[in-house]
Amino acid sequence: MTPDWSPLERELALWWAEGKSLPLWWRDDDAVEPTAALDRLGALSEELSIPVHLAVVPAYATETLSERLAPSSGMIPVVHGWAHQNHAPALEKKAEFRMHRPVSEITADAERGLSRSQAMFGSSLMPMFVPPWNRIDHEIVEGLPSLGYKVLSTATPRKRPFATPGLWQINTHLDPIDWRGTRGLVPEDQLISQLVQHLQDRRTGVSDNAEPYGLLTHHLVHDQDIWRFTREVLLRLLDGPTRCWTMAETLEKDPTP
Ligand SMILES: [Zn+2]
Repeated sequence: MTPDWSPLERELALWWAEGKSLPLWWRDDDAVEPTAALDRLGALSEELSIPVHLAVVPAYATETLSERLAPSSGMIPVVHGWAHQNHAPALEKKAEFRMHRPVSEITADAERGLSRSQAMFGSSLMPMFVPPWNRIDHEIVEGLPSLGYKVLSTATPRKRPFATPGLWQINTHLDPIDWRGTRGLVPEDQLISQLVQHLQDRRTGVSDNAEPYGLLTHHLVHDQDIWRFTREVLLRLLDGPTRCWTMAETLEKDPTP
Protein backbone atom coordinates (compact mmCIF):
# COMPACT_ATOMS: atom_id res chain seq x y z
CA MET A 1 0.00 0.00 0.00
CA THR A 2 1.30 3.44 -0.87
CA PRO A 3 1.43 5.60 2.24
CA ASP A 4 -0.52 8.83 2.31
CA TRP A 5 1.92 11.69 2.85
CA SER A 6 -0.68 14.43 2.36
CA PRO A 7 -1.10 15.09 6.13
CA LEU A 8 2.62 15.96 6.26
CA GLU A 9 2.34 18.14 3.15
CA ARG A 10 -0.55 20.04 4.72
CA GLU A 11 1.31 20.52 8.00
CA LEU A 12 4.48 21.72 6.26
CA ALA A 13 2.38 24.18 4.23
CA LEU A 14 1.21 25.70 7.53
CA TRP A 15 4.85 26.02 8.65
CA TRP A 16 5.66 27.90 5.45
CA ALA A 17 2.58 30.08 5.82
CA GLU A 18 3.41 30.92 9.43
CA GLY A 19 7.09 31.57 8.66
CA LYS A 20 8.29 28.84 11.00
CA SER A 21 11.42 26.74 10.64
CA LEU A 22 12.19 23.25 11.94
CA PRO A 23 15.70 22.43 13.17
CA LEU A 24 16.29 18.85 12.02
CA TRP A 25 18.94 16.28 12.94
CA TRP A 26 19.69 12.61 12.40
CA ARG A 27 21.09 10.10 14.88
CA ASP A 28 22.01 6.52 14.04
CA ASP A 29 23.06 4.08 16.79
CA ASP A 30 25.24 1.04 17.51
CA ALA A 31 28.21 1.42 15.16
CA VAL A 32 31.35 -0.56 16.04
CA GLU A 33 33.00 -1.23 12.68
CA PRO A 34 32.71 -0.43 8.97
CA THR A 35 30.05 -2.56 7.25
CA ALA A 36 28.07 -2.48 4.02
CA ALA A 37 25.16 -1.02 6.02
CA LEU A 38 27.41 1.76 7.31
CA ASP A 39 28.47 2.54 3.74
CA ARG A 40 24.83 2.74 2.77
CA LEU A 41 24.15 5.09 5.69
CA GLY A 42 27.06 7.30 4.69
CA ALA A 43 25.94 7.34 1.06
CA LEU A 44 22.42 8.36 2.05
CA SER A 45 23.72 11.12 4.30
CA GLU A 46 25.82 12.40 1.40
CA GLU A 47 23.01 12.12 -1.14
CA LEU A 48 20.64 14.12 1.06
CA SER A 49 23.29 16.52 2.37
CA ILE A 50 22.35 15.92 5.98
CA PRO A 51 25.07 14.84 8.40
CA VAL A 52 24.38 11.81 10.57
CA HIS A 53 25.45 11.72 14.20
CA LEU A 54 26.69 8.17 14.65
CA ALA A 55 26.47 6.73 18.17
CA VAL A 56 29.52 4.46 18.44
CA VAL A 57 29.94 1.83 21.18
CA PRO A 58 33.36 2.84 22.61
CA ALA A 59 34.39 -0.50 24.14
CA TYR A 60 34.16 -2.34 20.83
CA ALA A 61 34.88 0.35 18.24
CA THR A 62 37.62 -0.70 15.85
CA GLU A 63 40.50 1.27 14.39
CA THR A 64 39.06 0.71 10.93
CA LEU A 65 35.91 2.54 12.05
CA SER A 66 37.96 5.55 13.07
CA GLU A 67 39.55 5.57 9.60
CA ARG A 68 36.12 5.27 7.97
CA LEU A 69 34.75 8.23 9.94
CA ALA A 70 37.20 10.75 8.57
CA PRO A 71 35.99 14.35 9.01
CA SER A 72 34.89 14.44 5.36
CA SER A 73 32.60 11.40 5.73
CA GLY A 74 29.49 13.36 6.80
CA MET A 75 29.21 10.99 9.76
CA ILE A 76 29.85 12.57 13.15
CA PRO A 77 30.89 10.16 15.92
CA VAL A 78 29.27 10.53 19.37
CA VAL A 79 29.50 8.34 22.49
CA HIS A 80 27.07 5.42 22.87
CA GLY A 81 27.54 4.47 26.53
CA TRP A 82 30.49 2.20 27.14
CA ALA A 83 29.93 -1.47 26.14
CA HIS A 84 26.16 -1.50 25.43
CA GLN A 85 25.90 -3.99 28.24
CA ASN A 86 22.68 -4.53 30.14
CA HIS A 87 23.00 -4.30 33.93
CA ALA A 88 19.28 -4.36 34.78
CA PRO A 89 17.72 -7.38 36.50
CA ALA A 90 15.87 -9.82 34.24
CA LEU A 91 12.40 -8.33 34.71
CA GLU A 92 13.41 -4.70 34.25
CA LYS A 93 13.93 -2.79 31.01
CA LYS A 94 17.46 -3.05 29.65
CA ALA A 95 19.87 -0.33 30.75
CA GLU A 96 23.59 0.30 31.08
CA PHE A 97 23.40 3.67 32.87
CA ARG A 98 20.68 3.29 35.46
CA MET A 99 21.31 2.82 39.17
CA HIS A 100 21.93 -0.90 39.03
CA ARG A 101 25.56 -0.47 40.11
CA PRO A 102 27.46 1.95 42.36
CA VAL A 103 27.44 5.51 40.91
CA SER A 104 31.25 5.57 40.84
CA GLU A 105 31.34 2.47 38.64
CA ILE A 106 28.73 3.80 36.22
CA THR A 107 30.40 7.21 36.03
CA ALA A 108 33.74 5.55 35.34
CA ASP A 109 32.14 3.84 32.32
CA ALA A 110 30.85 7.19 31.02
CA GLU A 111 34.33 8.64 31.53
CA ARG A 112 36.18 5.92 29.65
CA GLY A 113 33.52 6.05 26.94
CA LEU A 114 34.51 9.66 26.27
CA SER A 115 38.26 9.21 26.65
CA ARG A 116 38.44 6.17 24.35
CA SER A 117 36.20 7.85 21.76
CA GLN A 118 38.33 11.00 21.81
CA ALA A 119 41.49 8.92 21.45
CA MET A 120 39.99 7.13 18.44
CA PHE A 121 38.21 9.92 16.62
CA GLY A 122 40.15 13.00 17.72
CA SER A 123 38.51 16.32 16.99
CA SER A 124 35.75 14.64 14.91
CA LEU A 125 34.25 13.30 18.14
CA MET A 126 31.42 15.39 19.50
CA PRO A 127 30.94 15.22 23.29
CA MET A 128 27.38 13.93 23.16
CA PHE A 129 26.36 11.08 25.47
CA VAL A 130 23.80 8.62 24.09
CA PRO A 131 22.93 6.07 26.78
CA PRO A 132 22.13 2.63 25.33
CA TRP A 133 18.38 1.97 25.18
CA ASN A 134 17.99 5.75 25.73
CA ARG A 135 17.88 5.10 29.49
CA ILE A 136 19.85 6.91 32.18
CA ASP A 137 19.15 7.91 35.80
CA HIS A 138 19.44 11.49 36.96
CA GLU A 139 22.19 10.67 39.49
CA ILE A 140 24.39 9.74 36.53
CA VAL A 141 23.27 12.66 34.34
CA GLU A 142 24.43 15.10 37.03
CA GLY A 143 28.00 13.87 36.73
CA LEU A 144 28.28 14.05 32.93
CA PRO A 145 29.26 17.76 32.53
CA SER A 146 32.30 17.39 34.80
CA LEU A 147 33.49 14.51 32.60
CA GLY A 148 33.42 16.81 29.56
CA TYR A 149 30.05 15.96 27.97
CA LYS A 150 28.09 18.90 26.55
CA VAL A 151 24.92 17.20 25.27
CA LEU A 152 22.74 14.31 26.45
CA SER A 153 20.57 12.60 23.86
CA THR A 154 17.77 10.14 24.65
CA ALA A 155 14.27 9.90 23.14
CA THR A 156 10.93 11.78 23.18
CA PRO A 157 10.46 15.58 23.38
CA ARG A 158 12.63 17.15 26.04
CA LYS A 159 11.01 18.78 29.07
CA ARG A 160 13.67 21.48 29.37
CA PRO A 161 16.70 22.62 27.33
CA PHE A 162 19.22 21.43 29.92
CA ALA A 163 19.32 17.92 31.40
CA THR A 164 21.41 19.40 34.23
CA PRO A 165 23.41 22.64 34.43
CA GLY A 166 26.03 22.64 31.65
CA LEU A 167 24.46 19.77 29.70
CA TRP A 168 22.06 20.38 26.80
CA GLN A 169 19.31 17.84 26.16
CA ILE A 170 18.77 17.09 22.47
CA ASN A 171 16.62 14.03 21.91
CA THR A 172 15.32 11.93 19.06
CA HIS A 173 11.60 11.84 18.26
CA LEU A 174 10.84 9.54 15.36
CA ASP A 175 11.98 5.90 15.32
CA PRO A 176 10.74 3.91 12.30
CA ILE A 177 11.55 0.46 13.75
CA ASP A 178 8.87 -1.73 15.34
CA TRP A 179 11.14 -2.97 18.16
CA ARG A 180 8.50 -4.78 20.17
CA GLY A 181 6.80 -6.37 17.19
CA THR A 182 8.10 -7.31 13.77
CA ARG A 183 11.42 -5.42 14.08
CA GLY A 184 10.58 -4.19 10.59
CA LEU A 185 9.08 -0.84 9.63
CA VAL A 186 6.28 0.58 11.81
CA PRO A 187 3.21 1.01 9.56
CA GLU A 188 3.95 4.13 7.54
CA ASP A 189 0.62 5.85 8.10
CA GLN A 190 1.28 5.54 11.81
CA LEU A 191 4.75 7.09 11.46
CA ILE A 192 3.38 9.91 9.32
CA SER A 193 0.64 10.72 11.82
CA GLN A 194 3.13 10.63 14.69
CA LEU A 195 5.43 13.00 12.81
CA VAL A 196 2.56 15.35 11.96
CA GLN A 197 1.47 15.40 15.61
CA HIS A 198 5.02 16.30 16.68
CA LEU A 199 5.14 19.11 14.14
CA GLN A 200 1.73 20.43 15.19
CA ASP A 201 2.82 20.44 18.83
CA ARG A 202 5.89 22.44 17.89
CA ARG A 203 4.03 24.87 15.64
CA THR A 204 1.40 25.57 18.30
CA GLY A 205 3.89 25.86 21.19
CA VAL A 206 2.86 22.67 23.00
CA SER A 207 6.43 21.42 22.68
CA ASP A 208 9.77 23.17 22.33
CA ASN A 209 10.66 23.91 18.70
CA ALA A 210 14.11 25.10 19.76
CA GLU A 211 14.99 21.43 20.35
CA PRO A 212 16.36 19.95 17.12
CA TYR A 213 13.87 17.37 15.82
CA GLY A 214 15.60 14.01 15.71
CA LEU A 215 15.18 11.01 13.44
CA LEU A 216 16.62 7.88 15.07
CA THR A 217 17.82 4.99 12.91
CA HIS A 218 19.85 1.79 13.46
CA HIS A 219 21.68 1.03 10.20
CA LEU A 220 22.72 -2.51 11.20
CA VAL A 221 19.14 -3.81 11.36
CA HIS A 222 17.48 -1.93 8.49
CA ASP A 223 15.52 -3.91 5.94
CA GLN A 224 14.67 -2.38 2.54
CA ASP A 225 11.46 -0.79 3.83
CA ILE A 226 13.26 0.97 6.67
CA TRP A 227 15.92 2.33 4.29
CA ARG A 228 13.23 3.50 1.89
CA PHE A 229 11.21 5.23 4.62
CA THR A 230 14.33 6.86 6.10
CA ARG A 231 15.20 8.34 2.73
CA GLU A 232 11.69 9.43 1.94
CA VAL A 233 10.93 11.08 5.27
CA LEU A 234 14.25 12.95 5.22
CA LEU A 235 13.70 14.06 1.62
CA ARG A 236 10.26 15.37 2.44
CA LEU A 237 11.38 17.17 5.59
CA LEU A 238 14.44 18.65 3.88
CA ASP A 239 12.16 19.91 1.13
CA GLY A 240 10.14 21.74 3.81
CA PRO A 241 10.94 24.74 6.02
CA THR A 242 13.77 22.96 7.80
CA ARG A 243 17.43 23.55 8.52
CA CYS A 244 19.96 20.91 9.53
CA TRP A 245 21.30 21.06 13.05
CA THR A 246 24.68 19.65 13.95
CA MET A 247 26.24 19.50 17.34
CA ALA A 248 28.94 22.03 16.41
CA GLU A 249 26.19 24.68 16.44
CA THR A 250 25.31 23.97 20.06
CA LEU A 251 28.95 23.82 21.17
CA GLU A 252 29.31 27.45 20.09
CA LYS A 253 26.51 28.51 22.43
CA ASP A 254 26.91 29.52 26.04
CA PRO A 255 26.68 26.26 27.99
CA THR A 256 25.23 27.81 31.16
CA PRO A 257 21.47 27.63 31.49
ZN1 LIG B 1 22.14 1.17 21.07
